[in-house]
Amino acid sequence: MSDATRKTDVVVVGGGLAGLVAGSRAAELGAQVLLLDKGSFLGDGNTQTTTGAYYTAGVRVSSAPGELYARAMRGGAANAELASTWADNCSRALDWLEHVGVEVDNHGDVPLLEPKSAVSTGPVYRVDAGTNIIKKLRAFYESQNGVSMSKTRALKLIASDGRVTGVEAQDSTGARLTVRSGATVLATGGFQANRELLRKHVGKHADSCKLMGSSSATGDGLKMATDVRAKVVNLRYIYARLVSYKAVSDDRFWPYPTFETLLEDGLVVDGKGRRFSDEGWGDVPLANVLAGWDDVTRAWLIFDEAAWERSRTDPSSVVPPNPWLSEKDGGLFKADSLSDLARKLGVDGRGLEQTVERFNAAALRRRLGELEVPRFNNARQIRGPYYGMRLVPGIVSTMGGPLVNKRALVVDRNDRPIPGLFAAGDVVGGLMGGRTGGYVGGISQAAVTGLIAGEGARKLAMASIP
Ligand SMILES: Cc1cc2nc3c(=O)[nH]c(=O)nc-3n(C[C@H](O)[C@H](O)[C@H](O)COP(=O)(O)OP(=O)(O)OC[C@H]3O[C@@H](n4cnc5c(N)ncnc54)[C@H](O)[C@@H]3O)c2cc1C
Repeated sequence: MSDATRKTDVVVVGGGLAGLVAGSRAAELGAQVLLLDKGSFLGDGNTQTTTGAYYTAGVRVSSAPGELYARAMRGGAANAELASTWADNCSRALDWLEHVGVEVDNHGDVPLLEPKSAVSTGPVYRVDAGTNIIKKLRAFYESQNGVSMSKTRALKLIASDGRVTGVEAQDSTGARLTVRSGATVLATGGFQANRELLRKHVGKHADSCKLMGSSSATGDGLKMATDVRAKVVNLRYIYARLVSYKAVSDDRFWPYPTFETLLEDGLVVDGKGRRFSDEGWGDVPLANVLAGWDDVTRAWLIFDEAAWERSRTDPSSVVPPNPWLSEKDGGLFKADSLSDLARKLGVDGRGLEQTVERFNAAALRRRLGELEVPRFNNARQIRGPYYGMRLVPGIVSTMGGPLVNKRALVVDRNDRPIPGLFAAGDVVGGLMGGRTGGYVGGISQAAVTGLIAGEGARKLAMASIP
């Protein structure tokens, strides 16, 4: 074990999409960059299993920045400056990814990064999308003379007079490394794998949700930023999807199939057979509600034959629910009557009948918005035979963390930038969360904040260079 000190223009902590973009962009612009990752190789985090869809808050990436901005603000928890920066740079960041060699398929509504990939069947994800994104970014980073160290965990930021001047780290042999830098970028992912932080910020039992994101996301960046008095926001919100309860014990049911069309056509009830949240906004807000419950799995998705048929072509799920769930015994129940279905599911039968009765009456009059729990989209009536399935929220990543400004500089509790400290990707708070879910897209968040952090870090570290 020996201790060492290194000097660099820019140090980036975390080598996922956000860190690789930040490091590559700073290196491309001429900075000397050192990238540290605690994993056994770069990209060992959420980027590894990403599906690669370049989501931009549910509208096309080519939409006017004003529209992208309005969409990001719709959740009700986004910071206006950050949302505006994200909206202005979504297209530029996608172009830059293409420029450094990431393959982009622009044919659909949502661009797909590294589209040619096989599907792993348990857990269910697109095998090559994440690994190819990382491979290409890493090749570009190295072509720009970027240096990286894996199995090296950053422990704390070095700060003096309110300025961050580097980071202290430790490698797998226990040797300490002090990195002195002109600028530091935190890109360490969220805190979805830290049970204590989930319980503290998201819900008393939120750690019993299925973990669908990387186990490397232990909240290190959040802690390091908090230690230098960063302002942290939106810690209670998570990017979580609803998957079959079977996913708790069977890898074939997470992170896909997800149930976008089934939620559009169906409804979600609690153990009393009652709706509790507007399914029209999709599963992210529902999963956020459940994460606050004592038992996060006491929710059931109810739908009918027509919905089940439509879900064969659910475009948002890597494997469509139909026939995946029925072929693989995914916890799906079917019955001719609601009372029979309720018995099979273990839900209150009378409650479920009343809920569907009221729902159907409102759907017929196109008055779903007037229900006790209003429904945002215009769903049809639900008719037998009926289907039902118990759900579990699966956490992909947390949405909160240190707030950054339009230059991706972390701000302090008085909203002043902390000199020398940038943040990018899942670690950042301020772009996502809120009543309607507020998910804008993890890749676009990582690409935009990574690009801007790389540019700002290079500029700060090489202040004398124009
Ligand atoms: C199954 C799945 C599917 C997804 N699909 C999509 C999709 O289709 N579209 C979309 O927009 N988003 C998607 N996402 C989300 C998206 O992939 C992420 O938002 C994005 O990859 C986050 O990148 P990141 O660099 O911020 O974090 P990560 O990729 O998690 O990287 C963080 C890195 O930091 C390292 N690290 C952590 N702590 C330290 C420390 N103390 N010192 C050194 N290194 C550290 C970790 O080892 C890791 O390599 C998906 C996520 C998952 C899990």
